[in-house]
Amino acid sequence: MKDSLKTLRVSIINERGEVLFDNRTDSSALENHLERPEVIKALQNGVGESERVSDTLGEITYYYAMRLGNENILRLALTSHNVTAILYTFVPIAILCLALSAGIAFVVARRLTQRIIAPINNINLDAPELNEYEELVPLLKKIETQKQEISMQLAETRQRSETILTITGSMQEGLLLLNEKGNVLLANESALHILDIDDAVGKNVIVLCRDLPFFEHAKACLNGQKSEGILQRNECIYQVLFNPVLEEESVGGAVVLLIDVTDKYAAETQRKAFSANVSHELKTPLTTIAALSEMISDGTAKDMDVRPFAQKILLQSRRLIYIIDDIIKLSAFDEAAFQKEFTPFNLYGLANTVISSLQENAEEKNVAITLKGDEELTLTANMRMIDELLYNLLDNAIKYNREGGHITVSLTDMEGSVRISVTDTGIGIPKAALDRVFERFYRVDKSRSKKTGGTGLGLSIVKHVAEFHGGSVRLESEVNVGTTVVVDIQH
Ligand code: ADP
Repeated sequence: MKDSLKTLRVSIINERGEVLFDNRTDSSALENHLERPEVIKALQNGVGESERVSDTLGEITYYYAMRLGNENILRLALTSHNVTAILYTFVPIAILCLALSAGIAFVVARRLTQRIIAPINNINLDAPELNEYEELVPLLKKIETQKQEISMQLAETRQRSETILTITGSMQEGLLLLNEKGNVLLANESALHILDIDDAVGKNVIVLCRDLPFFEHAKACLNGQKSEGILQRNECIYQVLFNPVLEEESVGGAVVLLIDVTDKYAAETQRKAFSANVSHELKTPLTTIAALSEMISDGTAKDMDVRPFAQKILLQSRRLIYIIDDIIKLSAFDEAAFQKEFTPFNLYGLANTVISSLQENAEEKNVAITLKGDEELTLTANMRMIDELLYNLLDNAIKYNREGGHITVSLTDMEGSVRISVTDTGIGIPKAALDRVFERFYRVDKSRSKKTGGTGLGLSIVKHVAEFHGGSVRLESEVNVGTTVVVDIQH
């Protein structure tokens, strides 16, 4: 009540609207109130009331005017706040209260959580029954069972990975397992050896091998394509097989296999070179034969040329036969490699027979042949092959000898092997050609060799026969002095 009185405004206004008294302010400073609705109503009806709202302050003022006996008007005014204004007053207090209670709640919640969580954190999973919360016992038992299952699975996985390592470790082929990014998950001993590295696990395939095609193949494989390449390392050739590991739609990694194909590759290269050489060697005499026969048959050859042409045709045909004979021998020996049929025979006797078969050729060149060695010398080997070997060595020694030269054939029984050496006093072989004369179709002097009927296959046959018997062949030669071919045959 006291408070409302304090806020009550009392004014006395005369009938002209002038404010005679105001308990709040100096009445003379106030404007004329004749236009105020409550004053108008009081002048007309004796009493009047009205209310006015102040938007800015959110206040509402109620006016009550009453005409007094002396014609003056008494006006009372009471101002109260509207809802918004009240809210304005309470908002800061509410915010403060909220912040305070949030702070308290935070601290209390934190403390409580810590107190609840602490026993859970301190649970000993090895003795779950000792925990503070009885409610957690079933959960802890479940965890304990799962723990046991996990350790069993771990042991199983470890055993499996050890088995894989043992199997891959004994593989001759190199094996790499890559993940989808090309990082190595597993590399066996052979792979490490081939790639010449100590460790590969965790490394990317790009750092394992600097070979660009290898990397390109690996990249294609990790994109889901199966691919295959060749890798050359430390004088060995490896076939590399890249297989993607597909997991539904995506590539989960790759399996890389490195297989040593050095021998296969060399054989293949040799086979290709041999085929090319054979074609070339057969084509040359055939071209001559075709050309000469054509000239004879269409009459372009003069009568006087017919005979020499026919002789040339005969020579080239013989040459073809020699070459084909040698090729047949070589391939027959290749096949014989699978059936080592060795029989004991008298080597001295065999050498004598070969010398006799070539005696005519030797006499044509006035070359003398001496055979040295034990007449009873026996060798256990493939007789047909040794016959061929002796024939080729002696044939060369005669062909490449000088007029009136000499040949010595020595047969020596070494411990565990027999040595056959053929020495001539012929033209010799230049140092640069010493290693090459064993290559198929290689001839030091092609034109000379053609004249003497050489095919370039004789020494290849010799080497083939020696190696077939676990032996070896070597050459010592000096140009214009002579040549010695030494063959050791195991027996
Ligand atoms: P060819 O049938 O041409 O004699 P070979 O394989 O027997 O083929 O010999 C290869 C080459 O080695 C010959 O062309 C020849 O140049 C050389 N050669 C082989 N034996 C002798 C030798 N005793 N003296 C000199 N050169 C030889």
